[in-house]
Amino acid sequence: MKHALIAAGVCGLLLAGCGERAVAAAAVVADAAPASWAADIAEIRRIAALIPGARALRINVEKFAESRRTKNFAVKGAAAEPSVQARTAYQVVYPDGQIMIDSGMNQEIHRYFGRGTEEPYFPEAAERVQRGLQAARLILLTHEHGDHVGGVVDSPLAAQLAPKTLLTLEQLRTLQSAPQVPQIRLTDVAAQRYLLMDYERYLPVAPGIVLIKSPGHTPGSQMIYIVLQSGAEYLFAGDVAWHMDGIRQQALKDAPWLTEDSGNLLVQLAWLNVLLRNAGALHIVVSHDEDQRLAYVASRLLGGRFE
Ligand SMILES: [Zn+2]
Repeated sequence: MKHALIAAGVCGLLLAGCGERAVAAAAVVADAAPASWAADIAEIRRIAALIPGARALRINVEKFAESRRTKNFAVKGAAAEPSVQARTAYQVVYPDGQIMIDSGMNQEIHRYFGRGTEEPYFPEAAERVQRGLQAARLILLTHEHGDHVGGVVDSPLAAQLAPKTLLTLEQLRTLQSAPQVPQIRLTDVAAQRYLLMDYERYLPVAPGIVLIKSPGHTPGSQMIYIVLQSGAEYLFAGDVAWHMDGIRQQALKDAPWLTEDSGNLLVQLAWLNVLLRNAGALHIVVSHDEDQRLAYVASRLLGGRFE
């Protein structure tokens, strides 16, 4: 197993051009007994300082669509009251370029998710997300679901965006063999266009940015830690929870259509809960929490529109 991990680690550093070897290495790892998930914020902060260079100045959010489901689906035990889930993407602004977190999705995938209902979609915001992807130097994905990867994978610009999109091997495998929606299935040929990589636990990818491997919501889920020049810290939790109440109450979702690793998710929720109570200037960002998005934009922790 140690040998396999080293091979995967080398591939992580080389990033592109070693997809097959890395898949073989990861397959060996998958046979090993799964270690339970753990993360250490002190270690993450240390790793965030490893890549030299100016850190990011600010982070912007776009809400390109909404999902309307009662809150009990997002937070087990919550009332079955109406609630809005924002669908979001983020733009991390450096002095000399931008990095995207997640990529939005087109209206066709939105309709597919809407199950025949008319949920809101905001074409102008979706267009700004597409322009943000075009302008970005690097694209990171919290996980391989359609509302997070669709803007790259199912875009007319896919051939242009893929070579600057970092895909983990777990994300790649799901997109190839078990995509959440048919529109995001990756062929072997399309997969070769991406920056394929693997890492064991943490990976610094830019000044102040660390990927944190977090399988649970999906096999390819990762959280993304960012510290800005100002010292403000953010932790993009992706879909570990769909609302901050899931973290506050350490409550899982209650959505029968999901196939999550609830053991890992409970450990992740507990870790986030401790951070929420103790980490001072660290701001957890939950992709679909509309209440939180509004509060962060109002308090200028996030810019409300892409630049
Ligand atoms: Zn999502």
